[in-house]
Amino acid sequence: MTEKVRCLIIGSGPAGYTAAIYASRANLSPVLYEGMQPGGQLTTTNEVENFPGYPNGITGPEMMEELKNQAERFGADIRFGYVTATDLSEAPYKVTVDGEKVIEAETLIISTGATAKYLGLPDETKYAGSGVSACATCDGFFYRKRIVAVVGGGDTACEEATYLSALADKVFLIVRKSFLRASKIMQERVLSNPKIEVLFEHETLGLTGEKVVEGANLVKRKGEADEEQVHIKIDGFFLAIGHKPNSDVFKPWIETDEVGYIKTFGGSTRTNIPGVFASGDVADPHYRQAITAAGSGCMAAIDAERYLSEKGI
Ligand code: NDP
Repeated sequence: MTEKVRCLIIGSGPAGYTAAIYASRANLSPVLYEGMQPGGQLTTTNEVENFPGYPNGITGPEMMEELKNQAERFGADIRFGYVTATDLSEAPYKVTVDGEKVIEAETLIISTGATAKYLGLPDETKYAGSGVSACATCDGFFYRKRIVAVVGGGDTACEEATYLSALADKVFLIVRKSFLRASKIMQERVLSNPKIEVLFEHETLGLTGEKVVEGANLVKRKGEADEEQVHIKIDGFFLAIGHKPNSDVFKPWIETDEVGYIKTFGGSTRTNIPGVFASGDVADPHYRQAITAAGSGCMAAIDAERYLSEKGI
């Protein structure tokens, strides 16, 4: 079963939906596949306070719903489905959805975002769904009046710790360095929150517990003369240590950096393959904000429109 489309957008975060808004208004009749997590990472975030135009903030899921509605208003065909294979050897590019349906696309906009990283400890797998989570907004509810730990020192970790502090009795923030990497405002929120205890220069060795997480074994100042083993009692262990770009399915064809971020060229969203564009977190190791993702989604749609018109397609 093969279907031909002019503009295929993969991914449904701010980049994908914005590309869909622009591509549909430019009469490219875009088809967008939402992927595993419709709405993308922002659906797992709570309040978005820094997107211009929302002076009182908006929740991530609400914002994504509005972007989706806006794209559909102009005729974007938004579908549920996950890309399982690609053949970008020649145009039109072949994209397989859910292992069976093949789409032939004249242009492709990759906006597949990024996925939360884990530490790589066997215990993260052992206690998956039993106290280990990479999404405070999704799972925080289960830890009301309990004790939790968040790993990481960036904006995500500070945001998750702050969010969890409104539910849990106590939140440990486990930071491997002696400082937080997060923005000043997020740092201040964490450091002034009486429910959050920041454990600087601590790393996680493993988790303990009969069936569910009951504690964590940490090491303080690992490798130093005063290295110390520390045990904390916790009910939940939240990872907030960054993300991995979702580019694997395109890798045989698309150039990425060593981490997996898709390379774009000339200040545009062009990839190494003509007619294939990348926008949002999958191509952005630097900013990774909803607003920058939306901006690059707009750029990708404009780049796709110009490509098609130059080709006379
Ligand atoms: P970051 O890459 O900014 O931070 C990751 C954090 O995890 C760092 O503190 C890092 O430590 C730590 N870390 C990484 N690997 C390990 C490990 N193996 N063990 C222990 N700690 C580890 O990721 P974020 O997800 O926090 O943020 C990504 C981007 O999104 C940033 O640009 C951020 O500003 C933005 N963001 C903005 C928000 C907002 O404005 N509301 C909310 C959330 C994110 P180290 O410092 O030692 O490298």
